[in-house]
Amino acid sequence: MNDSPDRPAKAARDAQPSEYGFETRAVHAGARPDPVTGARNTPIYQTTSYVFEDVEHAADLFNLQTFGFIYSRITNPTVSVLEERIASLEGGRAAVCAASGHAAQFLAFFTLLEPGDEFIASRNLYGGSITQFGISFKRLGWTCRFVDPIDPENFRRALGPKTKAIFIEVLANPGGIVVDLEAVAAIAREAGIPLIVDNTLATPYLCRPFEWGADLIVHSTTKFLSGHGTSIGGALVESGKFDWAKNGKFPTMTQPDPAYHGLTFYETFGDFGFTMKARAVGLRDFGPALAPANAFYTITGIETLHLRMERHVANAQILAEFLEKHPQVAWVSYAGLESSPYRALARKYLPKGAGSVFTLGLKGGFEAGVKLVESVNLFSHLANIGDTRSLILHPASTTHRQLSPEQQIAAGAGPDVVRLSVGIETAEDLIRDLDQALAKAAKA
Ligand SMILES: *Cc1c(COP(=O)(O)O)cnc(C)c1O
Repeated sequence: MNDSPDRPAKAARDAQPSEYGFETRAVHAGARPDPVTGARNTPIYQTTSYVFEDVEHAADLFNLQTFGFIYSRITNPTVSVLEERIASLEGGRAAVCAASGHAAQFLAFFTLLEPGDEFIASRNLYGGSITQFGISFKRLGWTCRFVDPIDPENFRRALGPKTKAIFIEVLANPGGIVVDLEAVAAIAREAGIPLIVDNTLATPYLCRPFEWGADLIVHSTTKFLSGHGTSIGGALVESGKFDWAKNGKFPTMTQPDPAYHGLTFYETFGDFGFTMKARAVGLRDFGPALAPANAFYTITGIETLHLRMERHVANAQILAEFLEKHPQVAWVSYAGLESSPYRALARKYLPKGAGSVFTLGLKGGFEAGVKLVESVNLFSHLANIGDTRSLILHPASTTHRQLSPEQQIAAGAGPDVVRLSVGIETAEDLIRDLDQALAKAAKA
């Protein structure tokens, strides 16, 4: 577990003070040479279960009276290294990993909400989150109210007595929108509810939401953290600063848990009680555990996060500037451009760059979009982001084709819209590829 009080783990923490720089923590946090074999890299603990020392040890583990490993649905040593590393990079107290970004979101809300509860979410989210929150969560008795995040006051206006959280993406997928994180955090704080930030697109290298007042962070580690398009995964991180007991709104945290002999998670585990409950109840009873091999790929990916993100944002900036001047392109929505209405917010929250996912509009509309994605050579036409490779998608003919034209436009996926996730290749090669494909699209 992240907070294992046993000796080796403590020694590891002592050797890795949080004062180390981001890059050092990306390479080292949570890991240490294997105490038995000396293996320097984190092994893949490809095991389902762990031997108990004796019956008393087993009882203590099951009662959460000691930290250790029982069964890999709940904890696994490889996954634990990843949890500690992500918590460290975000400046959080603790993290719990899950099988996917969506599973991490489920764990966050399952730990927070009871049937009948509500939360408010930005309407500018990853499309899958809109479906998860708006349709599937409804069947669990959880209501999500979507608001336009451009005016932070919209979140305040949507608050009600049953509102238990606010959820945003600072850098929103896909449209190049930046939300005023500090302002939304202040509204959540006044309402006595946590602000949850999906930090997938920015990664902790570009933005650290806890520094602006967020309380919980979720990640799809599938994207930039694993970074190479190899592994689906997710994480939930807690800042450790939210007071779950102050207003009686969070009985899941403050009332005795019948599944653990009446243990109260906030009282017992304090500043890491939320991720403890997400693990000990959410992972245990619903089972979306991250596979140790996927944790290993993600740990390996994170070791170069800072290097990759630097090149991702540099390439994105070059391509956005090239496309903005291109005669076939009507508009480019990238918060790194001076023309972006979100430029000032991006400077504040994303000083190292506005990410590498953005959209553009083609003058040739739907037909040009189809022709463009069919004409690229180096860009891959697929529905993912955050790969080392450059990726391209025409939402209106793929992910958003079931929607009416009006719904497509409202979702920022109109017939003319193309989404790019800019990789870390040679920028001139990417420009050449888009240029030749745009020339073919112009004839469509
Ligand atoms: C991909 C993505 C998700 C969902 O993550 P999965 O790992 O695919 O479940 C959530 N939020 C954002 C911003 C994403 O890009």
